[in-house]
Amino acid sequence: MTDADIPSGGVGVVVVAAGSGSRLGAAVPKALVDLAGAPLLDHAVARVLAVTDVEQVVVVAPPGLVPEIAGRYAAEPRVAVVAGGAERSDSVAAGLAVLDERLALVLVHDAARCLTPPEVFDRVIAALRSGDVGVVPGLPVVDTIKRVDEDHLVTATPDRSALWAVQTPQGFTREVLLEAHAPGRRGTDDAVLVEEAGHRVRVVPGDHLAFKITSRADLEQAARLLAGATAP
Ligand code: C5P
Repeated sequence: MTDADIPSGGVGVVVVAAGSGSRLGAAVPKALVDLAGAPLLDHAVARVLAVTDVEQVVVVAPPGLVPEIAGRYAAEPRVAVVAGGAERSDSVAAGLAVLDERLALVLVHDAARCLTPPEVFDRVIAALRSGDVGVVPGLPVVDTIKRVDEDHLVTATPDRSALWAVQTPQGFTREVLLEAHAPGRRGTDDAVLVEEAGHRVRVVPGDHLAFKITSRADLEQAARLLAGATAP
């Protein structure tokens, strides 16, 4: 990319796809598992590239698959591919390290949420452009949630009306995300690191299609949802 290609406020997306997907029980890492005739990762990347204002997409791949995955996107100049790490936070950090430093806004997205519609990205970007430094998509929790101790005894029932299940893409200003991902800091999502660093994180409406493909049943559900649509 040249300087002229990067407008101020440009958006970069880190797509983490370096997980093994062992819970799927497939012979290949989750990123390459077939979904309606295309690797799961292709569905995710196609939707990210459909988002207006996305200047760069960094795909974080299982280390052994970097050449193969880079080859898949060789014709798309906005896509870079790097090797991931042992844990999700390590993979996010690897992606951030190669993101163009002129991009002011960074979204981190799970490849496993490969059906997330571009409109969810748009909502996250819009909130960042309105001045938020951390934005996550989410849906109100419909089940009652119990806190349970090691003996499986219920210790608390949090007020459900205040609970949201959060998804990705999670969006941040570049400085805030880099601060949150200081070496050694780990969490199950990116927002928790930003929260712990003392920043305000806003929830915007997510989408049921942004569910995470974890099990074989999730994969079958995704295939059913795509049935009749042109892949990816
Ligand atoms: O396993 P988990 O639910 O945390 O995975 C969420 C996303 O993080 C997946 O898209 C997976 O590929 C990615 N991941 C990664 N590197 C890891 C572990 C998970 O990129 N070491």
